[in-house]
Amino acid sequence: MADTHHPSDVERLREQARQRDAADPLRHLRSRFDLPDGLVYLDGNSLGALPHGVADALQDAVRRQWGSDLIGSWTSADWWGAPGRVGDRIAPLVGAAPGTVVVTDSTSVDLFKLVVGGARLAAADPHRTVLLVDEATFPTDRYLVDEAARLLGMTVRAARVDDPAALRGPDGTPDVAVAVLCHVDFRTGELFDLPAVTRQVQQTGALVLWDLCHSAGAVDVRLADAGVDLAVGCGYKFLNGGPGAPAFVYVAPRWQADFDQPLPGWHAHAEPFAMAARFTPAAGIDRLRTGTPPVLSVLALEAALAAFDDVDLGAVRRRSVELTGTLIAAVDALLGDRVEVVSPRDDARRGSQVSLRHPQAYAVVQAMIARGVVGDFRTPDVIRLGVAPLYVDRVDVVRAVEVLRAVLDSGEHRAPEFSRRATVT
Ligand SMILES: *Cc1c(COP(=O)(O)O)cnc(C)c1O
Repeated sequence: MADTHHPSDVERLREQARQRDAADPLRHLRSRFDLPDGLVYLDGNSLGALPHGVADALQDAVRRQWGSDLIGSWTSADWWGAPGRVGDRIAPLVGAAPGTVVVTDSTSVDLFKLVVGGARLAAADPHRTVLLVDEATFPTDRYLVDEAARLLGMTVRAARVDDPAALRGPDGTPDVAVAVLCHVDFRTGELFDLPAVTRQVQQTGALVLWDLCHSAGAVDVRLADAGVDLAVGCGYKFLNGGPGAPAFVYVAPRWQADFDQPLPGWHAHAEPFAMAARFTPAAGIDRLRTGTPPVLSVLALEAALAAFDDVDLGAVRRRSVELTGTLIAAVDALLGDRVEVVSPRDDARRGSQVSLRHPQAYAVVQAMIARGVVGDFRTPDVIRLGVAPLYVDRVDVVRAVEVLRAVLDSGEHRAPEFSRRATVT
């Protein structure tokens, strides 16, 4: 089938990709991961690949720390301090100072803690009765903001992340307590201007809470420079912490002493082993913790973060932009208008994924997976190709587009087995 197109186009794209990969100073990072041979993995924005060292770290955590040292490991292996220790490893990846990030619970749970705590900080002003939420947000964020509003007696307003009108009520008065915004839209891959939107929100007196699920580890986030109030992000996407890895939270130093979160468990206590009847929050970011952490998962995430050792996130971001740009150029050259590029073409406005629209997106993704190119599907019609810049190469993204074209040419996505919906899409 390929010869009904222009084989020269494919050859040229492949050759260019090979040359640029060979000249890329970050290319060696791929060897920090265990990836199956021959697989093109474009789903690192849902579940990051397995970094070297994680299996050994878990083996040690299970056999020695748990198996031999047993409960003593809370002290000898500092299981107790692991959430803060791992938080401090994530901090430089999101432009945060030590002591401002802690690893705890899931993104969903952490979002609830931050929204309620943020709203309590804003409550000094009785006119601030609105929680603003990104209208395109990942559903869990919306569910939890709705529930927080119900408990707080506030209302929810949904709007585009960068819409200034959404920060004011009908009479023009600023009424937002907390704006809960996604840095990257999980469907389209649109990247928002975090510093500019942060300023816009804060100028109206509201707090900003950024969800970094689709940017942490792929985009050079600078929380402290931008003066962000609160942030949350995912441990198992671009940070590669493994299935169910705990999330991380950031609270700006200026808010920590007064931060009053709604799920204070004993691990957030100033003196956990005083076993006091009443709660007194820990002094710093530890007050964002709740109960006993999933220690094995925290240690897996810690080992996974070694993949970022000596890596400059600015360089990672540049590589990511080039990879997604290469993917879009290959779509233009090989597919024309047979799919619609949903992600922004403007480099500055694109996260680390490329979303393509096709009416049979689900079946097309399944047929691509059968040919060794793993992306995912987002309802109703989006083929989502995540580009994890630490281990995806230009030859991979060109190959993915070649495979997509071969699927569409052959019509193999029409086979019934590719339309049967799995539990997880
Ligand atoms: C992945 C993702 C989540 C995941 O939340 P969990 O609690 O880990 O299930 C939440 N929000 C956004 C924006 C995400 O992309």
